Amino acid sequence: MLKLESKIACPICKGILQSRSESLYCVHCEVDYPIVDNIPNLLPPNDKVEGYDYGWYDVSYFTIAPYSPYCATGSEAPIADNRYKVIKDHIYPDSLLDVGCAYGLVVQRCLKDGVFAVGMDTSQWCGLQGLIDGHYVRGTAWALPFRDKSFDVLYCDGVLEHLPENLITKVMSEFYRVSERRYLAPTYCADADHHLCIKDFNWWLERCPPNTWLSKESNSFEGNSFAYSEGGEEWIYQKGQA
Ligand SMILES: [Zn+2]
Repeated sequence: MLKLESKIACPICKGILQSRSESLYCVHCEVDYPIVDNIPNLLPPNDKVEGYDYGWYDVSYFTIAPYSPYCATGSEAPIADNRYKVIKDHIYPDSLLDVGCAYGLVVQRCLKDGVFAVGMDTSQWCGLQGLIDGHYVRGTAWALPFRDKSFDVLYCDGVLEHLPENLITKVMSEFYRVSERRYLAPTYCADADHHLCIKDFNWWLERCPPNTWLSKESNSFEGNSFAYSEGGEEWIYQKGQA
């Protein structure tokens, strides 16, 4: 976990954490972040956001229909292959942080390909699936537990629409802080009760930091057309393209 530890920080003050046997400790905030089953819990303590329920995104979300097919290893695998191919062929990441990674299928593909990658999600259960052991941390998008510019690419697919609208400015500023470039693919259509922030493409583009790719269709697995937040550069990726 050494390379991971060189990137993580206190989610509150962004200071360096002291490594203890079963935890990571912030001297400044006097907060002890537990490591449970090799998974650092870097959620800000007592964090409560109106309208957002961490508990929603645990065992039931990932195992009960209609959402289970999206996250089950079998049916999700070809989608993750496609997502990683898009990133690899067009963005060439030196390192990658997947915010809202679920089981970490994209991170798994990065690691197999020799690209250092870390997956972050709120759920302990997703990390326990063991697909990216030692590369999974619990954390939240509005208080990222990582050091400034610690990743080349921040990847966030099918996640932003789950967050309350009033936190999006903070989330984008956190994304910009920890990464050099970003690859974002929110969902644009209201199709679930827990989708708290459904906006159109232009709304998101206005809020993207510079040097960010934004998917023009809902989630990158639905379509593969992207716009760049600075300079207007665009590219279209065809599935199965060599
Ligand atoms: Zn701190």
